[in-house]
Amino acid sequence: MDLSNRVAIVTGSGRGIGRAIALKLAGAGATVVVTDIADPQTVADEVRALGRDSLSVAADVSSAADVARLTEAAISAYGRIDILVNNAGITRDQLLMRMSEEDWDRVLAVNLKSVFLCTKAAVRHMVKQRWGRIVSMASIVGIVGNAGQANYAAAKAGIIGLTKTVSREVASRGITANAIAPGFIDTQMTQKLEEAQRQELMKRIPAGYLGTPGDVAEAVAFLASEEAKYITGQVLSVDGGIGL
Ligand code: NAP
Repeated sequence: MDLSNRVAIVTGSGRGIGRAIALKLAGAGATVVVTDIADPQTVADEVRALGRDSLSVAADVSSAADVARLTEAAISAYGRIDILVNNAGITRDQLLMRMSEEDWDRVLAVNLKSVFLCTKAAVRHMVKQRWGRIVSMASIVGIVGNAGQANYAAAKAGIIGLTKTVSREVASRGITANAIAPGFIDTQMTQKLEEAQRQELMKRIPAGYLGTPGDVAEAVAFLASEEAKYITGQVLSVDGGIGL
């Protein structure tokens, strides 16, 4: 995959899957704008150590003002946005009957509204360029549901509907929009699980282990490449077979 001369924005790239995506895209030649709720300067330094340019921006992706500032920073530094990876996400798990309205709203805002805001801001530039790649992080939970995650599952299912719609709206402009549905990936998000839950989970994964952030980053790099130009509106599962 050659992403030389491409400019990418990766949200939630301070750690975990987002960090791995930023480093993978940089390794393939892209300039990467790394952004997280706290300024991810160390990841920008890691990108630069790979010989690529990088800008780090602190932004809450659920805030329209922050997203506008983020995209303006990318445009003023590099003049274009070729690749947008909507990766930032949170969980606030609780059974539906006990779920607070606040936890519902926050999870929907960070996981779903953010994808609307970032995509709307970036696609304007992609349309002018007649080239763009939008890759959004859904989840297996958005496909099959999961007890205790009504807010998260609704947000991730929403990303899939949003992705399919955007893909139809911009396909004629050389822009693709796809989603990735990770299964269980070894990051801080899944490290919250108790050991017994992890062991139980492992038995249900045909591959027999939790995926790595790098496994997801490989799929993102492909969908962001020129080679994936005829793939749009799809949901690519990266899940060791658990969703089969
Ligand atoms: P993670 O380790 O928790 O990283 C998520 C990153 O997003 C954190 O750096 C977090 O920053 C940032 N973030 C949270 N709220 C934000 C906001 N409002 N604005 C900007 N950044 C924000 O999670 P991960 O496991 O790498 O997950 C990455 C994505 O993959 C998420 O969308 C997640 O839902 C999805 N996913 C993960 C798995 C899995 O098994 N790990 C499975 C399926 C899907 P702070 O920590 O500072 O808040």
